[in-house]
Amino acid sequence: MNSNNVTKLVSGNSSIIIGDGIINELENLFPLSNYSKVAVLTDSNVVKYWLPTLENILHNKIQPIIIPSGEIYKTISQTEFIWNAMFKKGLDRHSLLINIGGGVICDIGGFAASTFMRGIDFLQIPTSLLAQVDAGFGGKTGINFNSIKNGIGIFKQPIGILIDTNTLSTLPEREFIASFSEIIKHGLIQDKIYFSNATSKYPKDFSNSELTDLIKGSVNIKLKVVEEDPLELGLRKILNFGHTIGHAIESNSLQTDNHLLHGEAIAIGMVAESKISQLLGNISEMDFIKIKNSIVNSGLPSKVNNISTDKILEIMHFDKKNINGNLLFSLITEIGKAKYDVTVPLNIIKESIDYIRK
Ligand SMILES: [Zn+2]
Repeated sequence: MNSNNVTKLVSGNSSIIIGDGIINELENLFPLSNYSKVAVLTDSNVVKYWLPTLENILHNKIQPIIIPSGEIYKTISQTEFIWNAMFKKGLDRHSLLINIGGGVICDIGGFAASTFMRGIDFLQIPTSLLAQVDAGFGGKTGINFNSIKNGIGIFKQPIGILIDTNTLSTLPEREFIASFSEIIKHGLIQDKIYFSNATSKYPKDFSNSELTDLIKGSVNIKLKVVEEDPLELGLRKILNFGHTIGHAIESNSLQTDNHLLHGEAIAIGMVAESKISQLLGNISEMDFIKIKNSIVNSGLPSKVNNISTDKILEIMHFDKKNINGNLLFSLITEIGKAKYDVTVPLNIIKESIDYIRK
């Protein structure tokens, strides 16, 4: 490992370490020997790639906990399974949980650790691009509940986040592409130049070092926003751009045989919510088309089928981002700028949803 290629960022009490191959340095980067026990949570997909590596690095001193892979398992019953496993393996208040996997593992593992014996330390090792630029950090943990995405959860910072870009080599192409929607989102809400860079090529055509730079850029944008507003009382809501409509599309798809990945649903949500900005007169039609084309050219979907506008609206009303029955949106006001808590007339919401239906 070339230590010049390691970036270390600090956010509150957590450190975020980014680099290629740094998983092998885990013991030097974090004080693992201070803990009474170290358990590792992963899923049935990731286990074959990374559990042996971790066992090797940590000399088999770890207690593995494995749950099935997929968003549909981000549930209270899987959380119970994790809590049970933690008790059975003898974890106590001075133990550590390492979550290694995609967004689901980071979210549910963070939640299980934050509630186990009133909360123990946890370390995130996001292995998907999506989790590396989004779900793996920011202090949000949680599970889906009664088909409400992230309906139950808690804000709790991990002790650290280790982003090893080498883990992306095992990522299926569809997931890799889907992750670009959060990268594009970061550009759209905060940084015009970053948006241009992130959409300058088809995702698979970025070199390893370009990709590492994109990850660092995304982490920096998200960190800046989260640090200003850790509990999502204000500014942090701009990170929800594309998610009000996108979550509804995602929740609906999870009830069908045609599951959309989070990033795919958010890509469609961003098209719809950019359409709202255009209809409100905040962005030009030219900018709208530029955004939509960048999403499509990155290999992401911009339309959804087999769902009515009314159904999407109905699901949106159960979304936790609603206050007093008002649908509140985070919308872009130009490429690279966003505002939050915007109420939008119902006819404009409907027209935007009509637009993204096939
Ligand atoms: Zn997201």
